[in-house]
Amino acid sequence: TGTPLAGRVAVVSGASSGMGAVTARRLAELGASVAVLARRKDRLDALVRDIEAAGGTALAVAVDVTDREAVTAAARQVADRLGRADLVFNNAGVQLISGIEELKVDDWQRQIDLNITGLMNVIAAFLPHLTASAAEGGPADLVNTSSIAATRILEKFSVYSGTKAYISHLTRLLRVELGPRMVRVATIEPGMVDTELPDHVTDPDASKLMAGLIRDIDVLQGADIAETVAFMAAVPRHVNLTEITVLPTAQA
Ligand code: NDP
Repeated sequence: TGTPLAGRVAVVSGASSGMGAVTARRLAELGASVAVLARRKDRLDALVRDIEAAGGTALAVAVDVTDREAVTAAARQVADRLGRADLVFNNAGVQLISGIEELKVDDWQRQIDLNITGLMNVIAAFLPHLTASAAEGGPADLVNTSSIAATRILEKFSVYSGTKAYISHLTRLLRVELGPRMVRVATIEPGMVDTELPDHVTDPDASKLMAGLIRDIDVLQGADIAETVAFMAAVPRHVNLTEITVLPTAQA
């Protein structure tokens, strides 16, 4: 059928732009009700209007995922308005690459706070939804957004790569506990995707490098990631695609 995700309740963090926004729209097209989480409420509201205009169901939840209590409240709101979540795309993240000797310690902290603590806050808030769904024989998917930076050795990427290595390895460990409970846990490790990610980089050399890559090769679009996440969620319940690397064909 055209709606393999009918009846599912999805949560997408980092849904106000980039791959999160496109994935939220796609999951809704495929039949899921989708809660979209990020800080920029205007963007979320516009996305919800788009999804509803296309016949889908969505809920905007303005939340800073680094705020644990706010994420807990968001999970309650999702449960009240859409029902228990059974697909969590844990995707909010920031990349602030810079040379280590520049000592951009505020940028280090922002990446650690969002990519690690924020990701863990979302897991804490929504894991009870996933385990409850799985215990009743329903679907349960946790998909964490890592990056090829988790394994590649890239100059000036040290703190960002460290946070992504954390996410990839965390996911392997979570599987050991959650797989036997029938909760699927996965990481997606994208290469270069055309999003707002480079806009936040304050190191001019680094942002030039990224802009150059986006200009010079046919990079991934958000839709490519959306299709991958949708596929991971739609395969039969006994199949767990655990670590998916998605690269632009031309990216070395
Ligand atoms: P974007 O910058 O377009 O999206 C990042 C999203 O995270 C936005 O929706 C932003 O919304 C949200 N966000 C930022 N801070 C917070 C916060 N404190 N609380 C809640 N939401 C927050 O970039 P991408 O789509 O590229 O990034 C998505 C993920 O993909 C990230 O984890 C990134 O590391 C990863 N990735 C990206 C790659 C690429 O080439 N683009 C490659 C590999 C991985 P708002 O500002 O409204 O809160």
